[in-house]
Amino acid sequence: MTKVAFIGLGRMGHGMAGRYLDAGFSVAVWNRSKAKAEDLIPRGARWASSPADAADSADAVVTMVADDEASRLVWLGQDGAAAKMKAGSLAIECSTVSHQHALDMASELRGRGLSYIDCPVTGLPQAAAAGKLTLLVGADAADLDRAKPYLAPIGDVIRHFGAVGTGTVFKLINNLMGAVQIASLAEGIAIAEQAGLDMNLVAEALATGAVASPQVIRHSKRMVARDFSGASFTSALRYKDAAYAVKLAENLLADAPLVGRAAVEAYARAKAEMPDEDEGRMIEIVSRPK
Ligand code: NAP
Repeated sequence: MTKVAFIGLGRMGHGMAGRYLDAGFSVAVWNRSKAKAEDLIPRGARWASSPADAADSADAVVTMVADDEASRLVWLGQDGAAAKMKAGSLAIECSTVSHQHALDMASELRGRGLSYIDCPVTGLPQAAAAGKLTLLVGADAADLDRAKPYLAPIGDVIRHFGAVGTGTVFKLINNLMGAVQIASLAEGIAIAEQAGLDMNLVAEALATGAVASPQVIRHSKRMVARDFSGASFTSALRYKDAAYAVKLAENLLADAPLVGRAAVEAYARAKAEMPDEDEGRMIEIVSRPK
């Protein structure tokens, strides 16, 4: 049976790991806190005592952790996955990391005879649990071909942007633009509220007008109703992605990114005040009256 190690069982990773179980893979799982694995074990997952233990004899290792720091720990830390991976096996990074981090990991793991591909995703936790993520891949074509059997259970669209790191570039610009849209939506709604407009009408007009991106459609009614139930992307994660994107922009563009920096500042406040809450709660930060 094909063996997969899955590392990181948060909102996204838990559902993704379940997809490998449902698809008939032999799955070893590790998460910093074991509680999130409890319901996967009766479904057939092997609990591993460390990322290295999970990776032992795996054909592919898939990670879905928060950020660069967590990614480095699970790949290269003490008892990191790389210590036990088979020569030639696949390291698939689904976490959203910085561009430089993806390049560094690719180089470090290549030096150990492993193939690293960056494969950040778009889609909410429900999509992760249903295997309906869009996979944003940076990889050599041959590595991507080898990785496809391990990508099929978790995603229904693969976008291959080019060599290692390019999937992450796309993911970061995507999430920077999302940060800008959500922060500016919060500002617009806050202005309309303070000006006394009919907010049901405002929500409907925003969600059907010229600025109605999927982010605006998703967040406008939630912000007006202050209802942040359902699947969540946290302020801390949005801040992290926007900050990684701005860093990349500073390396590539002479005079950028003005709007991106404003979004990073807005999400720095949201992260400071409510790091683990839904990113749409930005409305609560910007809507305080003077
Ligand atoms: P989450 O629920 O906060 O889970 C984060 C995961 O990272 C958990 O498994 C956590 O372990 C682990 N982690 C954090 N710091 C760690 C450390 N220092 N060492 C080891 N493990 C660590 O986040 P999520 O929403 O699943 O997001 C996971 C990744 O997917 C992020 O890169 C995020 O940007 C990306 N993403 C999220 C969404 C979304 O809608 N949520 C969509 C697309 C992409 P514990 O359980 O022990 O805390």
